[in-house]
Amino acid sequence: MTIEEMEKIPRIIGKYTSNKKGPLLFVTAGIHGNEPSGVKALQKVFEELQKSKPEIDGIIIGVAGNKEALNHNKRYIDEDLNRTWTEENIGKGKKETHEQKEMHEIIEVLQQYPEKDFTKPYFLDCHTTSSASLPYISVQEVNDNDSWAHHFPTYIIRGFSDIVYGCIDHYLSRTGLTGFVFEAGQHTDKASIENHEGMIWLALKEACKLDLNKISCYPECVKKFSEINAPDQKTFEILHRHGLNEGDKFKMEPGFENFQKIKKGQLLAIQNGEEIKSTWNAFVFMPLYQAQGNDGFFVVQEVKPV
Ligand SMILES: [Zn+2]
Repeated sequence: MTIEEMEKIPRIIGKYTSNKKGPLLFVTAGIHGNEPSGVKALQKVFEELQKSKPEIDGIIIGVAGNKEALNHNKRYIDEDLNRTWTEENIGKGKKETHEQKEMHEIIEVLQQYPEKDFTKPYFLDCHTTSSASLPYISVQEVNDNDSWAHHFPTYIIRGFSDIVYGCIDHYLSRTGLTGFVFEAGQHTDKASIENHEGMIWLALKEACKLDLNKISCYPECVKKFSEINAPDQKTFEILHRHGLNEGDKFKMEPGFENFQKIKKGQLLAIQNGEEIKSTWNAFVFMPLYQAQGNDGFFVVQEVKPV
């Protein structure tokens, strides 16, 4: 997507309802401005909904995250919009940074759809990753988020979302919505748009009782995600977080991808001149290849879904 196209993006990317009682499906995309693929997927979904006019229960709303950053194809302007959603910032109505202002605008949108008007409120927060990755759900283990996440055909990682403070999914969960973060793949990979689109259609099916046969792009617009790009559903939990201290010289061994299998004794990284070897037969998660970050890598293990 070019910058010219992005500039026209309003806060509300789209809204669709058949005026039937039902749930609220609140979809956010581009909370990080360098992750436009969720916005693009929402645009495709709303175009198709307007064309095919299928019946759904309740309403879906697609919301742009960091509009200004999306316009400039930057991750953020002053600070990360996925770290501002703290009780303190929201409680005090802080609007000191650009991101705090956008955060309050998004909250105002949500407040136009009070819980009492719906049978159940759901959220889906669309993201992508800097490195190549299989699509995965990151679920905070509160409310019924985890069982909801297991309606969807891809990897599910528990507990990662719980340890990062100030994320929008924390705010939405604390406000009483059920949902998760979806990481669709690498930022500029076209498969990431397909994965977001497939995920949104499936969320409409699961939450709003959409009959997928009623949309003209089906089955391709769903199956590209569910049958071609996504791995079979597996559930993972964090076993270990390899944190870094200020000034540490950390170099991950080349070639690791998200969810790659690792073995006991395998060399993972060099830190301050010393070898870091795996003490686990498990999977590596979020290996650090960027210059900045406090986490070298995580180790995750596969667990039973329930
Ligand atoms: Zn993101």
